[in-house]
Amino acid sequence: KLAGRACYRMYSAVDSEQGRRHQRLSEALVASLKTAPEEFSVVFQPQLNLESGQVVGYEALLRWCHPEFGSVSPADFVPIAENRGHIHELTEHLIRCVMRDLPTALVPGIDEGCRVAINISARQINDSRLEVVLAPFFDRLKGLGWQPELEITETHMMNLSPRCLQRLSSFRERGVAVAIDDFGTGYSSLAYLHTLPVQVLKIDRQFTQRLGENSRDSRIVSAILGIADALEMEVVAEGIETAAQLEKLRELGCMRGQGFLLGRPAELKSLLPINN
Ligand code: C2E
Ligand code: MG
Ligand code: MG
Ligand code: MG
Repeated sequence: KLAGRACYRMYSAVDSEQGRRHQRLSEALVASLKTAPEEFSVVFQPQLNLESGQVVGYEALLRWCHPEFGSVSPADFVPIAENRGHIHELTEHLIRCVMRDLPTALVPGIDEGCRVAINISARQINDSRLEVVLAPFFDRLKGLGWQPELEITETHMMNLSPRCLQRLSSFRERGVAVAIDDFGTGYSSLAYLHTLPVQVLKIDRQFTQRLGENSRDSRIVSAILGIADALEMEVVAEGIETAAQLEKLRELGCMRGQGFLLGRPAELKSLLPINN
């Protein structure tokens, strides 16, 4: 079905090979969470103000290094954790790592209002345990004078029930920033977008990466900036890899960005200026 309608495919050894790998990964994930949680770690990718070059936040990203499979992408193992009902455990582990890595106190005046974003999957927002899972994260960041941020992909955001939206609104009221991740890849209704408890749009990296290739892509990014402006939301451009893309984004008036050019995901202690 994934290959499209009105076609057929012969059974192939590759498909079943992939299926077997998926099955083995799935079993390994459950086992590792239980017996070797240290295989899961967290890296932080900086977000910069594109005008001043100041770091304005970090996105926390999960890593899994398995003795047999090596380094497994979160794009592969997060959906497995969701399906097997272990996504809260993973988030709890991520939060424990984040709290361990954050300094206990920050120098006043430096990095005030800096954000730390974590990614939340749709299934988690449906679950009332989410508040309990996130509470230590919220408390610790506020103690530092930093702001917690939750990223939810556009596709998931558009399908949230009223109860889930209420949950997000209550987070917002407690000073948590909410961001739509991978914006531009889903099907947002503009009328709906403005009713959401959202403060940040993260432009998906496919738009950033085509910037400069032709003027149409610049106009698309420009249009997203216009929508964000009309809705009084902030914008973060993801996936900035080249100086040309950075230049173009500045020219278009995009204030924030993230990408390999500005900083690869890394251990926090190698990123925090106050620790150096
Ligand atoms: P995302 O939230 O959109 O995260 C951005 C991804 O783009 C990260 O991949 C990051 O390493 C990568 N990236 C950043 N800058 C660049 C760049 O300049 N070029 C390119 N090519 N890539 C860049 P990563 O770490 O593999 O994460 C993939 C996805 O896995 C994330 O996408 C997020 O949806 C999910 N994920 C990661 N950690 C968690 C987590 O703790 N919980 C949940 N629910 N999902 C997570
Ligand atoms: Mg994200
Ligand atoms: Mg993204
Ligand atoms: Mg993504």
